[in-house]
Amino acid sequence: MFESLTDRFNSVFKSLSGRGRITESNISDAMREVRKALLEADVNYQVAKQFCKDVREAALGAEVVQSLKPGQVLIKIVQDELTKLMGPEGSDIYYVSPGPTVIMLAGLQGCGKTTTAAKLANYVRSEGKKPQMVAVDLQRPAAIEQLKTLGEQIDVPVYCEDSKDSVKVAKNGLKDAKKNDADVVILDTAGRLHVDQELMDEVSNVAKAATPHQIYLVCDSMTGQDAVNSAKEFNDRLELDGVILTKLDGDARGGAALSVKAVTGKPIKFAGVGEKIEDLQKFHPDRMAGRILGMGDVVSLVEKAQSEYDEKEADKLKNKMAEGKFGLDDFLKQMSKIKNMGGIMSMMKMLPGMAGKMDDLDVDEKEFKRIEAIIRSMTYNERKDPEVLTASRRRRIAAGCGLTVNDVSGLIKTFKRSRDMMKMMASGETGSMSAMKGL
Ligand code: GDP
Repeated sequence: MFESLTDRFNSVFKSLSGRGRITESNISDAMREVRKALLEADVNYQVAKQFCKDVREAALGAEVVQSLKPGQVLIKIVQDELTKLMGPEGSDIYYVSPGPTVIMLAGLQGCGKTTTAAKLANYVRSEGKKPQMVAVDLQRPAAIEQLKTLGEQIDVPVYCEDSKDSVKVAKNGLKDAKKNDADVVILDTAGRLHVDQELMDEVSNVAKAATPHQIYLVCDSMTGQDAVNSAKEFNDRLELDGVILTKLDGDARGGAALSVKAVTGKPIKFAGVGEKIEDLQKFHPDRMAGRILGMGDVVSLVEKAQSEYDEKEADKLKNKMAEGKFGLDDFLKQMSKIKNMGGIMSMMKMLPGMAGKMDDLDVDEKEFKRIEAIIRSMTYNERKDPEVLTASRRRRIAAGCGLTVNDVSGLIKTFKRSRDMMKMMASGETGSMSAMKGL
């Protein structure tokens, strides 16, 4: 499924992997490639254009979690935007009470409508409902027989009659379903090879007569933009509630899946992923986006890193800095965070206001270990307010961490210096970073 798009995305992300950060220029290059990939996947032109615009904006406004590489950040952004493009999730069938719930399926001939009717009947039965199908496709010669066979296969009754009047068959089918105490009636309506006036008139007449609670358009995903264009035409004539995309198992490109929601505004409810009755799945935009990119591990890494960088906490820190209340305990908290994420520089850059200003700063990891040992030997109050650290307290701390009083005093001195500088920076003044070098 979607193999070619996955390959194309992978090469775009790879091309960013050597870069230090996301910039206007490298994101533009990447987006050009993404757009090409989408168009080759037969995604609607406007949809592809808007998608790239959204990704670009999200990428340029992305929080700077410097432990991540631009390629990784972009993967997460693209996945989120793909999810949005195909979402929101809306697979649940709304059952009316009292029943029966009437579901009408519409679509072009060969799209998989009849097969989907049976798959859906099987699905609603798995939800504890009693389904019945009605053969309203009087156009395709074998459609009635096919539905009857499928019905027998899954033991679901099928109403059919020898008639040319689809409205009459639909109405009689509903009556029959009520008589049978069915909870859900699925109408398999007529298809044509192309959308034409006759087809539209017929399906809208059936819809008027049967007043279905839900109308789903069945689309063959392998026909790409043709599927999307016909979906648009159906949507203009019928009050569609959603789309069922069939043959996703054979769709290497993904153009229909990626465009149909954006073009029609209607959610993708289910996906057909094979010829068998069980091959119908609820459509989950997030999972589908994940499959398209095939990079679940990278996405979870980015999510983890971003959750470490909590915006609210950053705001709180910034306020503390501005008020000169940034304590050694805050400092330690930030340090332990970067242990999970790797790289002391990342932590420094994550401090509000520091991003982009710390490139020339080389911080020794060993030195940080010493600092951590000193801070951990302090009491809570001492960490909060280093002003209380008298000579005797410093001696106690030095003994506690196995370092000298000079080491402790050195840390306190440089901490105070940097706290003053943080205060300056957090309150908007851009000071020199050299004061941080002492840390
Ligand atoms: P209709 O003319 O719209 O009623 O189409 P059919 O239900 O007869 O389906 C046309 C063909 O598509 C049949 O051979 C089905 O087995 C096949 N088909 C339907 N849904 C799927 C699907 O999700 N995956 C695959 N691989 N084939 C499907």
